[in-house]
Amino acid sequence: MAQKIRVRYAPSPTGLLHIGNARTALFNYLYARHYGGDFIIRIEDTDRKRHVEDGERSQLENLRWLGIDWDESPAEPGAYGPYRQSERLEIYQGYIKELLAKGLAYESYVTEEELAAERERQEAAGETPRYVNEYLGMSDEEKAAYIAERKAAGILPTVRLAVNETGVYKWNDMVKGEIEFTGANIGGDWVIQKKDGYPTYNFAVVVDDHLMEISHVIRGDDHIANTPKQLMVYEALGWQAPNFGHMTLIINAETGKKLSKRDTNTLQFIEDYRKKGYLPEAIFNFIALLGWNPGGENEIFSRQELIDLFDEKRLSKSPAAFDQKKLDWLSNEYLKNADFDRVFGLCRPFLESAGRLTDKAEKLVALYQPQLKSADEILPLTDLFFTDFPELTDTEREFMSGETVPTVLKAFKSKLEAMSDEDFTTENIFPQIKAVQKETGIKGKNLFMPIRIAVSGEMHGPELPDTIFLLGRDKAINHIEKMLETLS
Ligand code: GLU
Repeated sequence: MAQKIRVRYAPSPTGLLHIGNARTALFNYLYARHYGGDFIIRIEDTDRKRHVEDGERSQLENLRWLGIDWDESPAEPGAYGPYRQSERLEIYQGYIKELLAKGLAYESYVTEEELAAERERQEAAGETPRYVNEYLGMSDEEKAAYIAERKAAGILPTVRLAVNETGVYKWNDMVKGEIEFTGANIGGDWVIQKKDGYPTYNFAVVVDDHLMEISHVIRGDDHIANTPKQLMVYEALGWQAPNFGHMTLIINAETGKKLSKRDTNTLQFIEDYRKKGYLPEAIFNFIALLGWNPGGENEIFSRQELIDLFDEKRLSKSPAAFDQKKLDWLSNEYLKNADFDRVFGLCRPFLESAGRLTDKAEKLVALYQPQLKSADEILPLTDLFFTDFPELTDTEREFMSGETVPTVLKAFKSKLEAMSDEDFTTENIFPQIKAVQKETGIKGKNLFMPIRIAVSGEMHGPELPDTIFLLGRDKAINHIEKMLETLS
């Protein structure tokens, strides 16, 4: 019988859910759901220095927001829990003991200072930094004395794996094909258990992936250099390794460089998208296309479609470009086609915090829904309705210096003034503009653009009559007056 597909997302709760990690989670999720396998969340919290309070909760909450669900996790233990590494210390220690007993690992008393000094010496000599076995050349008596002396000085040991320098560690990567390392190239015997009794990542991950019967390890390619170390642990413990797939990194489409926290123009944490009022399915869709595509022209896919279409053979071998323009486009597609109530719900907190939740709020959201890329944009878009006359850009100012502009504005202003309150409806506004055309002989862009710029301060926007109606007659007249003043 073929092995059951079991994959995992294994965040270290050292911060918020980053877009790169979200992509790892998402591809594991799609892989599991496509093949009817299990998707597991395991919390890798053994790095106590980098632990962030609340990191776990916020990771899971943001995954849930994206629409990702899972079969097993710290809160939903299956047969293989606990799913938090900090709760599995005895399990790791059991295997450490086994390796120590078999002579495949040993206690190391070298201090941080000694390691640093050795590293410095190696660098100065132009050697690649590596740990050199501290017992090298010692007789049994010397070794015993060395250990006794260090123990007496209160130095706690780490445990190192005895690396087979001539071993060959290779795997057929699901994304990148054949990859091979030799034992001599990984920096010497490495630490599998720290002084505090905690396992290192490369050790714990193997124990967990084995015991949790993980069939495929799909993760970012920053982990490629870890894989040979992990293969050594599988070998030492006599276990069969899972399949590995390393996804290419995400680069900024504009700079071609690895997406970094310094790219302040790019929102990198899922929380940021949530806060700005993006639709989760838009972000899910966008992330799914980072380094993967199902072929063909279409780029809009629901979660279920992505599950159905997912094919690991189409994971890209070249870096995935984070394309802001594509994100803007996708997000707008989702928002303009979403239920009005949902969009209003997203815009509501922004309007409320700006004191703009007036009786016109729904109409304003409806007016701008086709334009939105994220709900928070409702504020700048509606500024015009709540603030004084907006500043003009140079292009706008240049357009307004046209000879016929004052004529159009004066004529339209009188039309507005002549309308009764009952007459002032969206439907009645367009005929008034047409009347100005008839009266002045000015038409097309020269007719509409001055009115648009005068009332809204923008050259583009929703339908002009809608804008004027929502602005209200007094405000529209007031804006035109102010514009005429500026022009004279
Ligand atoms: N805790 C690791 C990380 O956050 C997981 C690596 C892995 O998937 O093996 O990068």
